[in-house]
Amino acid sequence: MKRGDILGHEFMGEVVEVGRGVTNLAVGDRVVVPFPIACGHCAQCERDMFSLCENSNPNAWMAEKLWGYSPCGIFGYSHMLGGFAGGQAEYVRVPFADIGPMKVPAHLDDEKVLFLTDILPTGSIRSGQCHVHRYLRPLLERIERGEIDPSFVITHRMTLDEAPRGFDIFNRKQEECVKIVLKTH
Ligand SMILES: [Zn+2]
Repeated sequence: MKRGDILGHEFMGEVVEVGRGVTNLAVGDRVVVPFPIACGHCAQCERDMFSLCENSNPNAWMAEKLWGYSPCGIFGYSHMLGGFAGGQAEYVRVPFADIGPMKVPAHLDDEKVLFLTDILPTGSIRSGQCHVHRYLRPLLERIERGEIDPSFVITHRMTLDEAPRGFDIFNRKQEECVKIVLKTH
């Protein structure tokens, strides 16, 4: 990590701008964004192995040196995994936005769908390495049917400005802190 890096790999939000190559999203859409960044077109992505995408980590050589291989780029998760600014911010730039983000139905609360971006799919298949993209839709359908509601893990809700206190109580295991949701408004 470097000073000024923006953390946060579980996030959702409203689309405020779309790039030229993105035709499946529009300004105003509410989306969840999976933490692995995937191009959708390389050999790994074509096999649905999105977390091994060969095109999304510009610093793959760093991970290869340490682990012998490189996973995909990940939001807010060190320079070894691409140095992408994460979601603890008011705005986030989402590369390959036509592949990752998924629109969520208006009748589902943010808190019900937020964890589709990480802990729900990774926890469901008991793995840190998770091809999140392929589980998004089936898990969303289960949330819609009321079969699962991941929001029970939320113990704290804070504003972005309160994030330093959030990190502090989480690290010290105070106030029975399990999961903090940061809201930008
Ligand atoms: Zn790829």
